[in-house]
Amino acid sequence: MKKVLILEDEVNIRSFVVINLKRAGYDAIEAGTGEEALNKLRQHPDIGVAILDIMLPGIDGFEVCRRIRASDKQIGIIMLTARSQEMDKVTGLMTGADDYITKPFSPAELTARIDALYRRVSADPAADETELRQGPFVLNLSNRVLDKEGVRIRLTQVEYAIMKLFMQNPGRALSREDILTSVWGRDYDGELKIVDVNIRRLRIKIEDDTANPTYITTVWGFGYKWGA
Ligand code: CA
Repeated sequence: MKKVLILEDEVNIRSFVVINLKRAGYDAIEAGTGEEALNKLRQHPDIGVAILDIMLPGIDGFEVCRRIRASDKQIGIIMLTARSQEMDKVTGLMTGADDYITKPFSPAELTARIDALYRRVSADPAADETELRQGPFVLNLSNRVLDKEGVRIRLTQVEYAIMKLFMQNPGRALSREDILTSVWGRDYDGELKIVDVNIRRLRIKIEDDTANPTYITTVWGFGYKWGA
């Protein structure tokens, strides 16, 4: 479900926004302070849009916006402003935000703005989680395909799962048990040898020289390590 964070200290306004978000099909994550909002964003990295009130106890909405932008370029940010706030000041400080809504606002106005921003945010092909790039390799996580120097390498689903595990853990020695559990599942009661069989096949597909593997190296008596 598409997630939206609402940061607002006034409970009535927050509830109003939450009800309307749910009605529009969003999963609403609530926060009453800036610190809480930053924590919730860490807990839910898949939040696509954040609505930030400006006047808050503790750090204000501008500061929350600045901190979010320092670590996340993708998320959409809408500021909630009060009509009494000087718009020059608001827009001047809003450099990291994508949009603003002035209170009081109608539910239709709110959801239309969120819908528009959510579409823009999720249309971005450079979203961090969609691919892993290391050395000559690009693993596309949405299409589940691997390219080496721009050339497609055909992988089985198991080989794909092993590559994903490796590329998510570069430079880390992974035991054969780790690989088996992660790829085949905790309930799999086959032999560890299946790991070696698949690694051998994967090496033939991805290594420059299968006799002297440099990407998937063997950690003797333990398992394997990825480096590209
Ligand atoms: Ca407020």
